[in-house]
Amino acid sequence: MNRRSLLAIIVGCMLTGWMLQPVLAGRGKGKGANTGTVAVVTEAEAVDLLFMREEEKLARDVYISMYTLWGNTVFDNISQSEQKHTDSVLGLIEKYNLTDPALEGVGEFINTELQELYDSLIARGEVSVLEALMVGALIEEVDIEDIVLSMDRTTKSDILNVYGNLLAGSENHLVAFVKNIEALTGETYAAQYITQEEVDAILGR
Ligand code: ZN
Ligand code: ZN
Repeated sequence: MNRRSLLAIIVGCMLTGWMLQPVLAGRGKGKGANTGTVAVVTEAEAVDLLFMREEEKLARDVYISMYTLWGNTVFDNISQSEQKHTDSVLGLIEKYNLTDPALEGVGEFINTELQELYDSLIARGEVSVLEALMVGALIEEVDIEDIVLSMDRTTKSDILNVYGNLLAGSENHLVAFVKNIEALTGETYAAQYITQEEVDAILGR
């Protein structure tokens, strides 16, 4: 099935399917696999959305902290972009009736893996402004990899659209951090997480 016909089915079901949903929901699994289940995410999609919500918040929180510490405007600008990213994932979480995992406080996470990552990134970023910028570039490299992997695990156009925006944002952010890093060091940036080839492609090298 090509993307256009899939999209037509999704839109068609969205227009006609909502009112049938309560009826279909009562029937359980089996019939109606492509009607009543349209607005339902798979478990893999749900896991990715919940993780991405906190991962984008992690980026925002690290940049807020680094801006407070170093006053470099690149952190201020990009933290505002990350706020939009985490908000756009929240929009999908609400659309698919998932429970938002994000905590209110800056630097607070439900996901223990992300909490440990945040703590270690802050410790590194406190060393110097160069290390803080390297932390920024590292976060963007990790985000790029995670977004691409999440895109491989969904076929939903609304989710792909949000991830596509996140990916474009992360690539722009990586470019901005690398510019700042290279201006400080006078050396060529070396990839920290994804391959040098991937980083060079993003940097247009
Ligand atoms: Zn982002
Ligand atoms: Zn970013």
